[in-house]
Amino acid sequence: MSRIIYINGAYQPYEKASLHVEDRATLFADSVYEVIEIKEGKQVDSEAHLKRLCYSMSELSIEPDFSIRTLPFIIKEVIRRNRVKNGYVYLQISRGRAARDFIFPDPATTPTSLIIFARSKNPDILNDKARRGIKVITHPDIRWKRPDIKSTALIASVLARQAAKDSGADEAWLYNDKGFVTEGAASNAWIIDKNQHLITHPATSEILKGITRDGVMRLAKEFNLTYQQRPFTLEEAKQASEAFITAATNLVMPVTHIDDCPINNGQPGPVAQKLRSKFHEFAQLTA
Ligand code: PLP
Repeated sequence: MSRIIYINGAYQPYEKASLHVEDRATLFADSVYEVIEIKEGKQVDSEAHLKRLCYSMSELSIEPDFSIRTLPFIIKEVIRRNRVKNGYVYLQISRGRAARDFIFPDPATTPTSLIIFARSKNPDILNDKARRGIKVITHPDIRWKRPDIKSTALIASVLARQAAKDSGADEAWLYNDKGFVTEGAASNAWIIDKNQHLITHPATSEILKGITRDGVMRLAKEFNLTYQQRPFTLEEAKQASEAFITAATNLVMPVTHIDDCPINNGQPGPVAQKLRSKFHEFAQLTA
């Protein structure tokens, strides 16, 4: 079965789909994106993801030339055409194709470009990983100062993730000039202190306000767990009783080591495991 991608108004086989070389996504990373989990054919928290997509576009003054209300239908069709049961859907909107110039092209004559594709992922592999837990390294946060916008300007995150892989880890926790952990290269970072308080960086312009992060806060309320949105240091993280990351492609993923320092004796923590197992029960699933 040939995979199908939605690109600028048409469903096309991958081999035929192409983005113009002068698309501003290619030249300037002048584009935003979203990643939505697909669970048993259903979209997980897609409304919240599309809301954040609108936020990202609005912060960059990207004016889509299509109605956002059509996106759920296209997403559904992409999932159907690619027969994705479990996996994710990726959406990207750029300011469009125009002769290379830093100045925005006229939105009246330059349509935005829209790409949507979906990929299958075997949930057993991710669940096995969660049973083992992951290692994270720490890495300076050298990203631009607006990671709250989900833009495709991801080179700093790419370098951090690669550094993690090169050290035999799965994720990099980024720390700012003050020594506080902001978030992961592609996830939000959490610790649980000795008093069983969940702690994560506040949703300032220094982090992406994760949809899975919001889900964990809803879950915490359900289970009477207290959480604090405040910066935490690397030292505090290394003394935590548990640590985990959240992201649509990882859900709640226990962290067993931070820079070779074992957390919870190097084992996935019980609270993180519980949050993971209950996550979908409290998420919005859309057919
Ligand atoms: N922070 C960053 C930098 C990310 O790239 C991501 C996901 O890609 C997240 C946090 C988690 O966001 P979400 O839970 O919405 O996937």
